[in-house]
Amino acid sequence: MDSTSPGSSLVSDSAASIAAAAGNKQAIYFDGTSNRRHTVQVRFGDGLDIIEDGATVASWPYGDLRAIDNGEGALRLKSVSALPLARLEVFDPSIQAEIRTRARYLEKDRGGGHAHTGRIVAWSLAAIVSIFVVVVYGMPLVAERLTPLIPLSFDRHLGAMADNQVRVIFGSRTCTNAEGRAAFSKLVETVRQASHLDVPLQTEVLTSPVPNAFALPGGKIYLLNGLLQKAQSADELAGVLAHEMGHISHRDHTRMMIQRGGVSFLIGLLWGDITGSTAVIFTTRTLFEVSYSRDAEQNADAFAIEAMHGLGRSPAPMGELLFRITGAQGSRTIGILASHPLTEDRRELMRHEDRPATGPEILSDAEWQALKTICRPASAR
Ligand SMILES: [Zn+2]
Repeated sequence: MDSTSPGSSLVSDSAASIAAAAGNKQAIYFDGTSNRRHTVQVRFGDGLDIIEDGATVASWPYGDLRAIDNGEGALRLKSVSALPLARLEVFDPSIQAEIRTRARYLEKDRGGGHAHTGRIVAWSLAAIVSIFVVVVYGMPLVAERLTPLIPLSFDRHLGAMADNQVRVIFGSRTCTNAEGRAAFSKLVETVRQASHLDVPLQTEVLTSPVPNAFALPGGKIYLLNGLLQKAQSADELAGVLAHEMGHISHRDHTRMMIQRGGVSFLIGLLWGDITGSTAVIFTTRTLFEVSYSRDAEQNADAFAIEAMHGLGRSPAPMGELLFRITGAQGSRTIGILASHPLTEDRRELMRHEDRPATGPEILSDAEWQALKTICRPASAR
């Protein structure tokens, strides 16, 4: 990437020596609207100023700078406040050092070192290959093959993006009653262990009166108080939670995102860019407006049945709870109540898998009562 054109050194106002040391090395800037390479200079002002032909074309706040990778001695940067695909490549080591000093969150989005870079390269390659495969075979197969190659950190990232939207959509707040939370944690952890799900979970009860529960990718499960109030036993809720854990374990969100997002989503993956505003909009739309495939729902139900059997408890109560809420007609909505398969069929399946209890009660009566009142302020109990 060495350039021989004269008089185009990296310039630093604050450190003339850096400019001198930089010699004729340049920075390359992609403005995020096209793939054209702009040869630019950088200057350390209030932010990192990007200068092309003497004019400042962008100024990236130091706190927004993120390193992407370190290919061939270059420091590749993006800014979380710039266009999602805007990139800056800096070649001079002393300029790189100055950037590292000023940009406090440079490494924030990254895992550690080479292993991470190698993984990114691996699934970028997978994405390239997939784009061609899409044309030939279509998205479902690609989603199936590609999902296992994508690191789990991607799922957590998706989940974090969708998390804020959950609060907006449901207008809910977290239920914080201490005894209720203790009971809920016990319930979740018991089910998680029985299902052999090796992902740390974050679960919360929200105040919403909507009777529903749903998972976000990476390990978040929300139970809405409306569903909690309809539940008549810990076994009913355990089955529902196990079903949501099934979606997390099977990574249904990620598979669905690839399937729905198609080629443009894969290109986003390729650029390592899943933080842009378009991605947020896309993620939210996909997670909330589209239900899983029938197969994904059936697999999650199978996962739940196995977990309940593992606990020595019957999955039948889960079917009763779903039926109590929706009746014979599954309502077309997100989460546990997604329209496929019909709740009547699901109840039949759960009943078919009914077995006499061989395991202990998941929650004591006192714990169950505490859970039921988790959304009440402490003073009201
Ligand atoms: Zn489901």
